[in-house]
This record gives sequence, structure tokens and C-alpha cells, in this order.
Amino acid sequence: MVTSVSLVEDTVAIKPVSVTDVFSIGIGPSSSHTVGPMRAAQQFAADIASEGFTPTSVLVELFGSLALTGQGHRTDAGILLGLAGWRPDQIDPDAIDGLLQQIRTSHQLLLAGSIAIPFQESEHLIFHRSAFLPRHPNGMRFTAYHCMHPLVTRQYYSVGGGAILQDDEPPATSSAQPRLRYPFFSAESLLSIGQRYGLTIADIMLANDSAWRPAEETLAFLDEVRIRMFACIDRGCQQSGILPGGLLVRRRAKSLRQSLLEDTSGGDESRVLDWLSLYALAVNEENAAGGRVVTAPTNGAAGVIPAVLRYYETFCPEARIEGSRIFLLTAAAIGALYKMRASISAAEMGCQGEVGVACSMAAAGLAAALGGTNQQIENAAEIGMEHNLGLTCDPIKGLVQVPCIERNTMGAVKAVNAARLALRGDGRHVVSLDAVIETMRQTGNDMRSKYKETSLGGLAVNFVEC
Ligand code: SF4
Repeated sequence: MVTSVSLVEDTVAIKPVSVTDVFSIGIGPSSSHTVGPMRAAQQFAADIASEGFTPTSVLVELFGSLALTGQGHRTDAGILLGLAGWRPDQIDPDAIDGLLQQIRTSHQLLLAGSIAIPFQESEHLIFHRSAFLPRHPNGMRFTAYHCMHPLVTRQYYSVGGGAILQDDEPPATSSAQPRLRYPFFSAESLLSIGQRYGLTIADIMLANDSAWRPAEETLAFLDEVRIRMFACIDRGCQQSGILPGGLLVRRRAKSLRQSLLEDTSGGDESRVLDWLSLYALAVNEENAAGGRVVTAPTNGAAGVIPAVLRYYETFCPEARIEGSRIFLLTAAAIGALYKMRASISAAEMGCQGEVGVACSMAAAGLAAALGGTNQQIENAAEIGMEHNLGLTCDPIKGLVQVPCIERNTMGAVKAVNAARLALRGDGRHVVSLDAVIETMRQTGNDMRSKYKETSLGGLAVNFVEC
């Protein structure tokens, strides 16, 4: 049994994480396979345009998990839109189909919105399904040509939650990093800072984010995140029909909401769970449809945190807006630990790194919003992950639909249970959060790649199409 890990902290190698690294506004269906590639393509196009290159064509090559599940995860769409200069946080999701159709029917693309190049997907977008780039399973290579001669080649990696890394990016150094007021790189150090200065986890996260922006701006950002999360739930509850991709998955949120509203039988108290599931379903159906979502900390797991936050505001009598900020700050601190000490990329960790991490973050956020001590919050986060360890990523047809949509409902229910269990205790427990994060990391490393966002194993190969 793993009960403790070495907490030697390499403050030089570990990059500090801001709330804006954990939550961001994006589009569905995947942060690593849609948003990350879109950002990489946009950055490549913008960089070569600003560096004065005038290419006559561009070749994009996708490797590993991006190639294996890229079509289901709409990596192709992300690449086309990014090359054309669009950013995930700015594009209107309702305009996407029209923009793609224009590129696909004209076989022309305006690189960075200004340089006209031919673009035929069969020729200019290559999926290398059995090759991997060395640094990460989600690799991309972009090459710009002038009259068949290569001008510039750049490689990027989509490392989880929509974040990208360029191949020649220098490793983080302590001098290049922002100076945090209360630097922490483990749950143990987070707890000891809290004890030493009499601060909550939310206080510590807010103070640290002052290294990037004033506290009022961070709070305004969190309020915007909350509004966008709830807008996504509300929009998801209004939509019906079949999700795209060919799996013929029916959207259920609208009819579930209707049946809950019409059911006047009273029922038992566990009906609250139906509402919690509804909130998560609504977000993940929006995500699967390519709609606007808050990446939290990924898109595949984007329903867990909004569902638990909405549960807090709707069903907890003590809820207040300040509590929602505490919820999000605390969840971000826990998400930061996973980003710093392991990974939130399903291509590295399986679904334990997506829904498992979101569950852990939401459990901690809820425990904090309900007035838990730092020890109870750490306990809630630990429970939230401990019972997701080993969770594989095996989406059918490479679509972020089955098991993903329902899995978010399970993550939300587990998060509420984890918070409640922790709040009923005094914070003492056997396995530390650091130990469980390290266990997730080791389990992810040991997991065979067919269970890590490749759709080569698990449900993806045992599903029989009628
Ligand atoms: S199974 Fe989990 S990790 Fe994999 S795509 Fe679905 S939500 Fe993401």
C-alpha cells in the first residue's frame, strides 16, 4: 500500500500553475485533441506570418493519439480553424460548420487570415496512426513550403487541458517563473503553508495568482468562468436530437429536465442526484456537439465541476457567491497539484487523469465552499481520486460521447460523496493526496497505450454496431 511519497520539491523544474491554466474558455469536444491542436495551428500560422514567410502550402502531420482518435475528437476541424487564424476562446461555435464547409469545398485556406494557400485534407493533413513523436503521445508537425521547398518545420505537443508545448521550448527555469507569494508544489506544502500563515487553500491560490494579475481580476475571471459554466448547463438543457459522429447518441438532458420538472410525486431525497447528473449531462452533450464549454480541467471532463458547483448553489442552503469563488479557487489549487506532479492528459494517464482529476477538484471545491478545514479539503480531494484510480480512456469511435458523457455524471456524484465523507470526518486519513497523485501517475505510466485515448482497447473494441 502506498501511504507516503518523497516530497522533495524541485522548484526549478516545476512550472507554477495559475487558475487560468486550469480553467479556460474553449470549444468541444476535446481540450487535448481539438483545442490544443487549434492553438498549435493558430500559433504556427501567426508565427510564420509575423516572421515574414510567405508559404505556398502547409503540411500538417498528426501522430500517436491525435492520429488515432483525431477524427472522432475533431482534431481535423481544430487544425483547419487554427491555421485560418481562429482561436478557441474567440470563435463562435455556431459559425464553425460554415467556416469548415467553406475551406472544404473551396480547397483554399487563408493562413493566419491573410495568406491564401490551397488546402486539401487528403494531401495536406496526414494522420500517422502508428508513429509517435518522442516527447508526448499527442504530437503534431507543421511544415510550410514555398514551391515544394520546405521553409520551416515546427513540432508541438498537446499536453492536456488545451495546453501546448513547442518542441524547442526551453525547460522552465526558476528565474523565468513568476514569483509566487506562497509557492507550493505538493499537498503537504499547501497544508503546511495554510497552517503556518492561517490561510485557507483558496486564500493561498488567490494570493499566488497575484503574480500574474491583481486579485480583483482573478475574481472577475472566476465569476466569468462560473457564468460560462452555468450558461453551458442551461444551453445543454434546451437542446435535443442526435449528437454528431455516427454513434447515434441521443441527447438526454432536455427530456431528463422535463421529466424532473413534471414529476410532482415528491420522490425520495436522492432525487437530488438526478439533478446533479442532469447538470453534467447537459455540459457534456454540449461538449460532444462542439459547443462552448469551460475546459475544467479538460473538455472530456468538463461536466463534473459545473455540475457540483450548480448542486452547491441549488441544493446547499448555506450557498453564497463568495462560496462559489472559494469552490473554484480551491478546485484550481488541487488541479494545479495534478498538473505539476502528474498529468491531466488522457493520452498519458487514461481517464483517471480527466474525470478522476475533475472529481478530485470538485470534491475539494465543494468541501471548501461548505466550510471544510484544509485537512478535510485535502481528504475530499484524495477520496475523489482514490476511487478513480485505474480508470481507462476507451471512447467508442474516438468520439467524446461513450463512456464520456455518463462518466461525468459518475464523477459528479462521486465528488459530492467524497466531500460529504470528508466533512463528516476530522481530516485525518490513511493515504495522503500526494500519495494518491503519485499512484495515479505510476498507474498511468504502467497502463497500456490501448487504454490511453487511442480507441484501440476496452469499450472501443467491444462495442458491436447494429
Ligand atoms: S473516456 Fe474519459 S479521458 Fe477518454 S475521452 Fe472520454 S472523458 Fe476523456
